[in-house]
Amino acid sequence: MMQSMMESSVQPEPQVTDGMYRSSNEHGDRLELEKVRRELVYINTIGKRFVAAIDRFHVHRALLFALQELYSFSACCILLKDKPVELFIIPCQPLSAAFIEDMLQRIVNAAHVIDFPSLSVTQLISSAYFDAPDEVAQYRTQEAIECTEIGSVLNIPLIVENHIIGMLSLFDELVGTFDTEMLHFTTMIADYAAVALDNVRLRENENALWRQAEFERQRLELVIRSMAEGLLITDAKGLVTSLNHSARQLFAQAQITLQDTSSFRIKDLAIAEEKPWLARLAHIIDEVLTDQTITNQELIVGESGESVPLTLNISAAPLHNASGVTPRPIGVVAVINDVTSNKQVEKLKDEFVSIVSHELRTPLTAIKGYTQHLIRRIERRIRKNQTGVIEHPAAVSDLPESQDLRNLYIVQSQTDHLERLVNELLDLSQVQNGQLVLQYSTFHLADVLSDTIHSVQVSSEQHTIYLDIQTPDTLIKADRSRIAQVIGNILDNAVKYSPHGGQITVLLQRQAQEYLISITDQGIGIQPDQLAHIFERFYRVRNTASRQYAGVGLGLYVAKAIVEQHGGKIGVNAHPGTGTTFYFSLPCTPD
Ligand code: ATP
Ligand code: MG
Repeated sequence: MMQSMMESSVQPEPQVTDGMYRSSNEHGDRLELEKVRRELVYINTIGKRFVAAIDRFHVHRALLFALQELYSFSACCILLKDKPVELFIIPCQPLSAAFIEDMLQRIVNAAHVIDFPSLSVTQLISSAYFDAPDEVAQYRTQEAIECTEIGSVLNIPLIVENHIIGMLSLFDELVGTFDTEMLHFTTMIADYAAVALDNVRLRENENALWRQAEFERQRLELVIRSMAEGLLITDAKGLVTSLNHSARQLFAQAQITLQDTSSFRIKDLAIAEEKPWLARLAHIIDEVLTDQTITNQELIVGESGESVPLTLNISAAPLHNASGVTPRPIGVVAVINDVTSNKQVEKLKDEFVSIVSHELRTPLTAIKGYTQHLIRRIERRIRKNQTGVIEHPAAVSDLPESQDLRNLYIVQSQTDHLERLVNELLDLSQVQNGQLVLQYSTFHLADVLSDTIHSVQVSSEQHTIYLDIQTPDTLIKADRSRIAQVIGNILDNAVKYSPHGGQITVLLQRQAQEYLISITDQGIGIQPDQLAHIFERFYRVRNTASRQYAGVGLGLYVAKAIVEQHGGKIGVNAHPGTGTTFYFSLPCTPD
C-alpha cells in the first residue's frame, strides 16, 4: 500500500500488527481489551456511515465525522483523479486566501509524488469546490478565527483495488497536529472513503447512463407518438407490442376497434374481423419475420363499391437486435400510410386523360381526313400541270402548289404523331380501367414481325434491323394489331435510343407452348437502378442524354399491359452504353 506523507515533524507509524494490542499483565489486558472494544465500536460506526453514504457529500460528512474523532484540524481536501480532476475543500474553520493558496500548492506537490505528474495549481483552482458541512464540522474556536498559515499537513492516497483514485489531505494551522499514533486509523478511514467515493462515482455514472437512456427512450416515444405515419411494431412471434396514435386512427377509420392496452396478433384480428386486408397485413408480417423487407404494398381497406376506397400503403422491415447477430428477426417494424387522397388525385387524373383523349380524337380525325383530302387534290393538280414523269409531286419546287404540298406533308406527319399520342393516352385509360379488350384471331407471328420491322425500317436508314426466326411454326392465337403495337413500341424505342444507328436484332423462338421474342439494340442502354421503373406509366429515364428523345413514357407501360393480358411476360436486360434487350413471351394459344 502507498505510504502516507506527513509534512509535520512526526514520523510515519509502523504497520498495525497482530501483537499490537497485547500487554503483559491482567489490568493491562483489561485496559487493552477496552481500547480494542472502543476501536471496534468506532470502526463499526464509521464503516456504517460510509456504507450508508448515497452521494459524495454524504461521504464527505462521514469522512469528516471519522477524522474529527481523531484530530482537530483546519481543513480537509479530497482530490479525485477522475477525468476531469476534482478537488473538494472542506474547511473546518475560516481559511485565509494565503492559506488556501498554500494548501493548493502543497496538494500539487504531494500529487506529483503519488502519480499525478501533470497537475498544476491553475488546473486545481478551476476544478475546486467548497463543501462546508456546517452541521458536522467542529470548529476549533467559537469565534472562528481565520487561519493564515499551515502548521501541519497529512497526505494519504485514496486507493481502491491497488489503483490510486485520489488523495486525502488534512491541513492544520498548528504544528504537530497529526499524531503518528493515529496514522493507521487515518489510513483505514481513507481506505473506507476511497471505496465509498468509488462506489458513489460508479453509481453516479450508472445514474447518468440510465438518465440518458431514459431521456432517449422518452424522446423516441415522443417522436413515434407524433409521427403522421402509422407505426406498428411486433415481437418475434408477430405479437403487436407497439402501435402509435396514427396507426390506431387508421384502424379506427377501417372500423377496427382495438383494446387499449393488451397486445394482439394481426392474424387473430384478421380471423375475428374477417377482413381480407387484415389477412394480407398478417401475411406481410409473417414474410418480414422470415427476414424479408416489404416496400410500398397497397392494402385496399374500403369496400370495392366505393369510388375511391380507403387505401393503405405499408412498408415493413425486420428488426434485429443491436449486435445484429440474431439469425431470426426479433420483430417487425411497419410504417403505414393512408394513400386514399393520392388515389383520388390519380383517379381524377385518369378520368381527365380519358376524357381529353376521347375529345381530341374527333377533331383529330377531321384534321387528318381533310389534310389527306387536300394533299390528294394538290397532288392531282400538280400532276395535271406536269409533262414529264415525276416521282414525288412535292419534288417540283418552282410551282406555288409544291410549297403548299410540302407544308401539308408536315401537317400530316405532325397529325400522325399527335394521333399516336392520343392513342397511347386512350390505351392508358383502357388499361387503367381494365377495359383493354383483345380481339383474338389466328395468324403467323413471323408475318406481324416482318410487317412491323418493315414499317420501322423505312423510317430509319441509320439502323439495320435483322429478323431471326428460329422456329418453323409461328402460328399464334392473339390480338394481331395489339401484338403489332407491342413490337412497334419496343422497336420504336430501339431506334430512338440508338442515336448513332447500329444493328437491331429481332429473334423469335419457341419454347414448349410459348413464343419468345427478343429485340436487341446497340444503343445507350439503361442504368440498373432504372430497370425496375421503365414499365411504369409516364416513366422516362431522367438524364441529360434522354431529354433529347421525344416521348411521354407510355410505350412500355401499354406493351406490358398487352403482353400480360395475353398471359405472357415482358422483361429487359440492359447495361449502360452497351445496348438493351427487351424480351417477351406469348402463349401459342390463350387459356
Ligand atoms: P413513348 O410513350 O413515346 O414510348 P418513351 O419511349 O419515353 O415514350 P417508353 O417506351 O415507355 O417511353 O420507355 C420508357 C423509358 O425507358 C424511356 O423513356 C427510356 O428512357 C427507356 N428506354 C426504353 N427503351 C429503351 C432502349 N431500347 N434503350 C434505352 N432506353 C430505353
Ligand atoms: Mg417508347
